[in-house]
Amino acid sequence: MLHYRTLPVTAFQQNSSIVWCDETMDAAVIDPGGDLDALVAEVQHLGLQLKAIWLTHAHIDHAGGTGELAERLSLPIIGPHTGDQYWINALPQQSAMFGFPPARQFTPTRWLQDGDTVTIGRETLHVRHCPGHTPGHVVFHAPQIDRAFVGDVLFAGSIGRTDFPGGNHQQLIDSITQRLWPMGDQTVFIPGHGPESTFGRERRSNPYVGNT
Ligand SMILES: [Zn+2]
Ligand SMILES: [Zn+2]
Repeated sequence: MLHYRTLPVTAFQQNSSIVWCDETMDAAVIDPGGDLDALVAEVQHLGLQLKAIWLTHAHIDHAGGTGELAERLSLPIIGPHTGDQYWINALPQQSAMFGFPPARQFTPTRWLQDGDTVTIGRETLHVRHCPGHTPGHVVFHAPQIDRAFVGDVLFAGSIGRTDFPGGNHQQLIDSITQRLWPMGDQTVFIPGHGPESTFGRERRSNPYVGNT
């Protein structure tokens, strides 16, 4: 069975999630934006073996700790989609601009595309490309536990910003309505910031994408 635990990291309180298979105790960390010591301590506390880093997109609060963590533990970096290459290139400037510890550039071991799958232990998650907040944003869907890790695509009561370079409001709306809603109203999503919600609740009450 797939399990997860979410830790808010960095000054932006970004929801980094540790996901693991309880048969093998292999784990992946989604979006290690920073606070690496806390993330690694949690992995150890849970008795897990960290095997991979999975990225939704390359904004500093999500990807800032990636290069250092990958090097420290010799981990493969999976994702995001190639559309975020320019955000990876800009990580050093992003960290300076937002007052983060200096972030390194890195080269993903594997870029992701819509329809791909990622595996941890005996568990498989499905990848959907959801551009709009950034061009290379992906989300990880775990239908076996009705969960989706959606980064900054959708929040409880809000949606991702689209005023950064490469952002596109209509694309973001299309990503939400065409790629998230089909996962089902019952699906609980873990957003990049703030509390969890379900797609059904957002379809009913989110002012940006309600009744779509
Ligand atoms: Zn972002
Ligand atoms: Zn974010």
